[in-house]
Order: sequence, then C-alpha cells, then structure tokens
Amino acid sequence: MKTLRLILGDQLNSKHSWYKEDQDNVVYCLFEMRQETDYVTHHIQKVIGFFAAMRDFAQHLEKQDCKVVYFKLDDKQNTQSLTENLTFLIKEHHIKKFEYQLPDEHRLDEQLTAFCKDLDIDSQSFSTEHFYTKRQDLATFFKGKKQFLMENFYRDMRKKHDILMVAGQPEGGKWNYDKSNRNKWKGEHDIPTYKYYKNNVENIVSLLEKEDVITIGEFDTKTFSYPINRTQALDQLKYFCEVLLIHFGDYQDAMHTDEVYLFHSRLSFAMNLKIISPKNVVDTVLNYWRKHGENINISQVEGYIRQIIGWREYMRGMYWALTPDYKSLNHLENNNKLPDFFWTGNTKMNCLKQAITNSLDNGYAHHIQRLMVTGNFALLAQIHPDDVDAWYLGIYVDAIEWVQLPNTRGMSQFADGGKIATKPYVSSGSYINKMSNYCDSCHYNKKEKLGDNACPFNSLYWNFLDDKRQQLGNNFRMGMMYSLLDKMEKTQLSQIKERAQKIIENPDAF
Ligand code: FAD
Ligand code: SF4
Repeated sequence: MKTLRLILGDQLNSKHSWYKEDQDNVVYCLFEMRQETDYVTHHIQKVIGFFAAMRDFAQHLEKQDCKVVYFKLDDKQNTQSLTENLTFLIKEHHIKKFEYQLPDEHRLDEQLTAFCKDLDIDSQSFSTEHFYTKRQDLATFFKGKKQFLMENFYRDMRKKHDILMVAGQPEGGKWNYDKSNRNKWKGEHDIPTYKYYKNNVENIVSLLEKEDVITIGEFDTKTFSYPINRTQALDQLKYFCEVLLIHFGDYQDAMHTDEVYLFHSRLSFAMNLKIISPKNVVDTVLNYWRKHGENINISQVEGYIRQIIGWREYMRGMYWALTPDYKSLNHLENNNKLPDFFWTGNTKMNCLKQAITNSLDNGYAHHIQRLMVTGNFALLAQIHPDDVDAWYLGIYVDAIEWVQLPNTRGMSQFADGGKIATKPYVSSGSYINKMSNYCDSCHYNKKEKLGDNACPFNSLYWNFLDDKRQQLGNNFRMGMMYSLLDKMEKTQLSQIKERAQKIIENPDAF
C-alpha cells in the first residue's frame, strides 16, 4: 500500500522508528510554506534555520534511499498550504494511506485532524518519539490538584526515569540546587569561544528576499551558526559537556554586556526541531559527568538536567493541558501596546537595549534576559499579553508555540492567574543590578525612584503592585511586598505613580 508520510519542520528526528522500516512503498514530504513563514513575523534567522535544517534532513533521508518530495518556497507546485499540498501529492502519487507524526502545536494539530476526517483514504498518526512524556501525562499527573508546581513534576520525573537518584533518594542529598545557580558574572573565568557552525544559507537568504517574506532581526553573515543536523547537534552537546557544563549552573542567571551566551548550551533550536532528543542530551551529560566530571559539582549538572526533564517537559504538558483557552487569558487585564523599541532596541534603558539587541542580532536571549528584563518590563508596563506573545513567538530561533506560550503568557506575564508561576516575576532595578553589569553603563540611576534619571523599573514596580492589588493582594508570596507598599508615604506613592504613568504612556521616550 503506497503511503505518504508528512514531516513537519520541527519533526526532524532521524532516529524515529519510521526510518527503520522497509521504505519501498513510502513517500516522505516536507514543505516550505507561506502558511508557516507568515502566521507571525519571525526572526530572519529562525526562518533560515528551519529551512536549512529541513533541507539537510531531506538530503539525509535521500542518502538512506528514502523517496522524498521537498517543496521549496518558490516551487511551482507548492500551493503554500499544508492541506492543499498534501491533497495534490495524494493524487499525484496514487497514495492509499496518509501518515503523520502528532504536531506539537494546536494550530497544526487541528488542521491535520480536520484534513484526515475528510480524507477518503486511511490515515494514521504517530508519536514523534521525542519527549519523555506524552501530551496528556501532565494533565493526568496534576488531576484533582489545586497547584501545578513544576517542582513536584520534576521530582516525579527524576524518580520515574532514575535520573540523579541513589537508592530512591536524590543524589547529593538535595533535589534542587537552584540557590547556588545565582552568581553574578565578574569575569573570573575565561569564557571559551563559542562554537559557530558555518552552514551556508546564501540561497535561502536570496529566496526569502525574492519571495518578499517579511522578517525581523539581523542576519549579516552568509552562514547560520546554530546546529542544523544531528552531527552538529551532537558536536555542540559534546562541547557543552567538555567546556561549558563546569560553570553552567553557577552563571545560569547572570547577564553581562560583553557576553551573549555565557555558559548556556545553545541547544534549544536543535532540540525543538527534534534533531536531538532530550533523553540523548540528558544521558550524554550524565555519562560525561560520571566519567570525566571529577571537577564538576553536582549543582551544575542538576541545574542543567532540571531545565530539560523539568521545565521543558513541564511547559509542553501545561500547553497541552491548557490550550486553546490559555491563548486568550489576561488575568491582570493588561491592555497597553508593546513599545516600538522592542523591534529596534532603541531605548536608553540599558538592560532592555542589551537584551533586545541580543535578540535582534542572534535570535537568542537566555532565560533570565527573557524573564527578568524584557518580560519584566512588559508586565510592569502592563502590555497586552497578545502583543507580548507575538513578539516572543517571532523573535527567537527556538520559538515554537508549545514552549513559547506557557513561558510567556504563564510564567512571564502571569496572564493565567498563577497556574504556572505562583507569583508574578516582577522586580525593580535592584534585581537586574544584582545579576548583571547593565546598570553600570545605563543612562538611569538604579537607586532612584523619582526624578528624570531614576531607573524606570523602580517606579513601574511599585505602581504595578498598587494597580494590581485586587488580583495580587491576597497572594501569600506577595505579602511582604504589599506590606512595604502599605508603609510607603501617600505623597511618595502618588509621585511614583505619576512617573510610572509617564513611562507607560510613552515608553519609547525612555
Ligand atoms: P540553556 O540555558 O542551555 O538550557 C538548556 C535547555 O533547557 C534549553 O535548550 C531548553 O531546551 C531547556 N529550557 C530551559 N528553560 C526552559 C523553559 N523555561 N522552558 C522550556 N525549556 C527550557 N525556550 C524555547 O525553547 N522556546 C521558546 O520560545 C522560549 N520562550 C521563552 C519565553 C520566555 C518569556 C521565557 C522566560 C523563556 C522562554 N524559553 C523558551 C526558555 C529558555 O529561555 C530557552 O529555552 C533558553 O534560553 C534556550 O537557550 P539554551 O539552549 O542556551 O538554554
Ligand atoms: Fe535597567 Fe534600570 Fe539598571 Fe538602567 S538602571 S540598566 S533601566 S535596571
């Protein structure tokens, strides 16, 4: 029976059991489509990276003697729509059965479910064989519970998969070394040069230009630097283990004007396209540590593994448990527009300038820049979560809705009223100063709340608490901040609110 198998752009798992079967009657298809380039405005490096990885994967399959139909963006037969392309190929190749791997995005899941319902040939869906957990596992795990704490899920994952466990107890005696993951970067170690992959993408760049695909961000070389295939991803992982793991946990939250990546692994793009699996990553890190890690503290290893089997699987599970309704939540009733400087980096606030410029230049910012700089400002300035989501979904090379949405709308913007985060991640300038050197060269004074030179985060912070008292006043984790607010003199609070209002009304002037 002749079978058509669809491979979506984020399903580049060369270890999938599909490829271990007899390939005689199978046609694989991959499409570059306007449907995907245009549903949000993406960073140019993200579109380039996806197309480069998809093309590489198609070549890899052809080398394994698989029959592959690949539609480039400008191919004449390409209708630019997923379902129309599939309909065309089913007819053209006299297909008797259609198979696909379950998409990780609601949008595509719905599209393919509806498509299969209308088909007059057989169809079947398969697991992507990528994640540790299945789509609905998290919903089942938290069923009947009031709180969906990541830490509870993470401990269960450690036990279930016997990761960093000794005789049923956490290795080293602690589940979580988060408190030792908070060092400021003061240049005390040499930072190794980053591994850049020289993937030549000139033809993709000219294709995007020719087809007028609208993108954001910069791309000033001819090579795409993140890993785009399994060989490169494994090489990047090896480099992470040998060179970066030793300080990963210590400087996980640190930010610095001279450093974009510090000790971060830069593996999210490869993992999210399923080029490499989370199990592969975790096993490699653990094996390396056991064999060669005599100088590497368990806090570095636990800190890294928590991100993968904890946060990453948790976010995916929350996405499937809570969407599609989750996409319209706005618990704090924020309605302001995203400032223009998010698209240009043109602001006097140095922390935002640094985090946004990194994002525009590299399609990358690390977790704390996303959470405590750009996300923090967006929340304090009470930006509508739709605007915030659209920015985060477009700007990062690793942004795919299942991971972007719960991180942005939930963890960062508290728009879900506390399903993911137990309190909003907001801070005044003091946290940013504690974790970075940004304030040293900023136009604003990190210590001042009032006056033209006062750090905008300081007035925005107290104004936010005051404005959102109705929604947050009873949150037990906010109690201390509200009692400080209550002790503030009325005249000082009204001056602070006046300054905050000026910033909120015209953020691009700051
Ligand atoms: P490292 O710091 O080396 O971490 C290792 C890996 O852990 C990452 O590659 C990633 O796979 C995983 N990880 C770490 N934190 C998280 C998390 N909170 N959720 C899921 N996985 C995590 N990550 C994305 O992959 N795509 C997104 O669109 C995305 N959007 C985010 C939006 C906001 C507002 C925030 C606060 C975080 C977001 N993250 C997202 C999580 C995190 O910022 C990135 O995974 C990380 O910066 C990628 O860089 P890295 O590979 O060097 O990560
Ligand atoms: Fe950011 Fe305020 Fe520090 Fe400037 S002073 S870098 S605006 S936190």
